[in-house]
Amino acid sequence: MMKIECPQCKKSFIWTDDMPVTGKCPESDCQWLYDVREQLKSNVEKKTTANRNAVLCPKCGEPVHSRLTVCRNCGNLVIGSRTFEKKQLWLVVVLMLLLISLIARLKGYL
Ligand SMILES: [Zn+2]
Ligand SMILES: [Zn+2]
Repeated sequence: MMKIECPQCKKSFIWTDDMPVTGKCPESDCQWLYDVREQLKSNVEKKTTANRNAVLCPKCGEPVHSRLTVCRNCGNLVIGSRTFEKKQLWLVVVLMLLLISLIARLKGYL
């Protein structure tokens, strides 16, 4: 199933797997011919260019400057593809310190 938007009558319709790969726009007074393979290609291109141009906040989907920043829109800390609320940051830091001290202690035993 795929949503196709007709560039001529500006109406969108749902293409299902039992429909032909190429065909006419379902609007009776519109002569536009769709090609599902072309549509798929342009969909993929749209997605990849969007990803290439901007890093998106995983929480709200707004573009952010980098993979390690604070989102201007929702105020969450963006680390890689994850977000942390500022109040959760303390928890992350505490857990990391605990882990580091645990590793240090284990190394002493070895
Ligand atoms: Zn149409
Ligand atoms: Zn955000």
